[in-house]
Amino acid sequence: MTDHYGNVKVQHGQMKPDGEEAEVEDDTEEQVPVSSPSASASPDPIITTTGTDASTSSNVCKRNGKSRVKPGRDDKNCSGNPSSNFHWSVVPPHAVKNVNSPRSGQQNLKIKGLGRILQGKSESNGNYASKTIQETRCEDGFRLSRRRPVTVDTSKAKTSLEALKLCIKQLKWKEFPLGRRAPCDIYWHGVSFHDTENIVSGQVNKFPGMVEMLRKINLSRAMRTMQELFPEEYNFYPRSWILPEEYQQFSAQIRLVKEKDTTVNTTFIVKPDGGSQGDGIYLIRDPSDLKPMVGSQAKQAVVQEYIPKPLLIDKLKFDIRLYVLIKSLEPLEIYIAKEGLTRFCTEPYQEPSQKNLSHVFMHLTNYSLNVHSGNFVHSDSQSTGSKRTLSSVLYRLAAKGVDIKWVWSDIIALVIKTSIAVVPELKVYYQADIPPGKPGPTCFQILGFDILLTKSLKPVLLEVNSSPSMRIEHEQEVAPGVFEYVPSPVDEEVKVGVIRDTLRLMDPLNKKSTPSPQLKAGGFEHGEEIPVDSESQGRNPDELENLPSLCLKQVYPKYSKEFNHLRLLERITALFIRFLGVKGNMRLGPTAFRTFIRTCKLSNSNFTMASVDILYIDITRRWSCAIPDSREAGMGLQAFVEAFFYLAGRRFKSLLLKEQVVSLLSLCEAQLGPPSSVEDRRSLSCSRALPRAVRTQTLCLPDPQSSSPASQRRAASHDYRLHQKHKPRTLRANVEN
Ligand code: ADP
Repeated sequence: MTDHYGNVKVQHGQMKPDGEEAEVEDDTEEQVPVSSPSASASPDPIITTTGTDASTSSNVCKRNGKSRVKPGRDDKNCSGNPSSNFHWSVVPPHAVKNVNSPRSGQQNLKIKGLGRILQGKSESNGNYASKTIQETRCEDGFRLSRRRPVTVDTSKAKTSLEALKLCIKQLKWKEFPLGRRAPCDIYWHGVSFHDTENIVSGQVNKFPGMVEMLRKINLSRAMRTMQELFPEEYNFYPRSWILPEEYQQFSAQIRLVKEKDTTVNTTFIVKPDGGSQGDGIYLIRDPSDLKPMVGSQAKQAVVQEYIPKPLLIDKLKFDIRLYVLIKSLEPLEIYIAKEGLTRFCTEPYQEPSQKNLSHVFMHLTNYSLNVHSGNFVHSDSQSTGSKRTLSSVLYRLAAKGVDIKWVWSDIIALVIKTSIAVVPELKVYYQADIPPGKPGPTCFQILGFDILLTKSLKPVLLEVNSSPSMRIEHEQEVAPGVFEYVPSPVDEEVKVGVIRDTLRLMDPLNKKSTPSPQLKAGGFEHGEEIPVDSESQGRNPDELENLPSLCLKQVYPKYSKEFNHLRLLERITALFIRFLGVKGNMRLGPTAFRTFIRTCKLSNSNFTMASVDILYIDITRRWSCAIPDSREAGMGLQAFVEAFFYLAGRRFKSLLLKEQVVSLLSLCEAQLGPPSSVEDRRSLSCSRALPRAVRTQTLCLPDPQSSSPASQRRAASHDYRLHQKHKPRTLRANVEN
């Protein structure tokens, strides 16, 4: 890990001088996704496509509308008919006019050949479970022949089911709609990792803890920590405050700004923590406009600076739904779908004013809200209507002279940085639910990133959905009061591609052995060739001949060199996990914290062990108030990070925060040496008598032997799902927005 920013740095909001060309390599294969140009779209077409136009495939596949209550559908007509077979080819960058290019003197990601990107490494998904597929097969007592179809348990797929079925058929894999007694290769869950309990092998399409990590408050906290360390690099997330705990700070800061400049009239958007699909969201201009919230759940919210000048198309505000695959946490592997969706408002946009604050069809792009507006346009075309493909929008921008490569590389940077912000805590969840050495599945997950483009083409992160909707049909009122589900070609075009290619990347029969050590260490060199072509390895070519090239493009570790320096929190997390001790635990007890301080030699005459205990109590107490529904006592990762920052600040006063943290990390890592084995970790568990100062705290600690935190969390997550059954609108699963 280095503190060096590298010579390729991505920054936002800078203007590139007119006429100056983007520093993107002239490679005609991997480019920004762009739509097939319609004859009328551009007088000077700069983008051409080859291959099968997916829109025709969607139309060929078109099914009859069905009534609302429907069992699994027979998709025979569409099987083996891939929804997309585009081969984008874009004219060289010099042909792209830079009329509106918002960047100046800015370096950018060098986007290289798609061919190389598609050469996935095919590892054992890392994810801490050291068990390889080969071992799993042996344990299961059967050998996988090359042609044995991959088995998929779809019993918990929920609203993804229709698209998933299509993909399984296209891949000629075997679906188990009711699950089966013997293990499956892949378990497709609709909500969370815990949809099926006690999976001991295979792969699950959800990571433990992802739902929790991506709730609005937790995401805001994770982004804020990164903003503290790297303010410039994380300026793509709007300034946010957590309610109710930061109400005073929010009010005071706004008052101060208004006192300084009375003309300033910033707008804020208030989002309930557990909300989705625009539920409960409203705009305010003054802290006193916050609605009093009742009920313990409703109290939690994020209030965020509202982006007043979004990019408009046809005078309408829109946002981007981008699909991202986290293929593995260790090593970190991230893929971005080249095709996504854009969701349009249904009322022409005006900058927020006291008069229009309540106009949801003007300010909120949620599909679930706008579909109820009389102006919503359902369209079979990908480039018109209220829901369009991302490529059609980018194409339209390109036709106007916008340098979409810059936009796309900024979007890639946003995705990688956001992932780096949430991965540390996910690792804590992961080791708690699937401890090293215990049988368990490995995980992957498709996330839905919601991104707004500002007028100056800067991508802003709105939120990340842990269970983006994979529905490929929408409800339509065919006669007054009569609703039917009808196919949605735009959804099918995008979502089937994302699921199918995720499955292809996760294909267990394509897997190679364990990752190379340098890969595990995150030391993948930028531009280094990934040796295995995941598309062709281990499969009978006949099986693949009808499939289009992958729509998922690897961005990490491909661009690791540009972003590795941001992964400081993962190093802090590695320390945290090392001292957690008890399997399944997610919180550090007071004695483990002392052990950490002692082992890393962080105490001295100026900072005694008594001060250490006070620090522990102080920070832990504050965080347990901030996370009131937490079931485990002790110091969580976020509290540990705060303690670490404090210790770093004490020790290296004269440095900037980031440098303080790097210095303390180096010091700790030098004291500890290489990570210990599971047994070493267990030997670090709290066995010493606790100091008097913290005895009261420890009285609350659950006995890890009798009731494991992981099982408590599972119970809690189960409670949550039961509770949500009665309130489906607030369920954060399968969020279409
Ligand atoms: P939900 O999960 O309820 O959809 P979001 O955070 O996605 O919540 O917000 C809903 C919508 O509000 C977004 O789709 C977007 O149109 C708008 N929005 C959210 N945050 C902002 C912001 N900071 N500035 C401008 N518009 C925003």
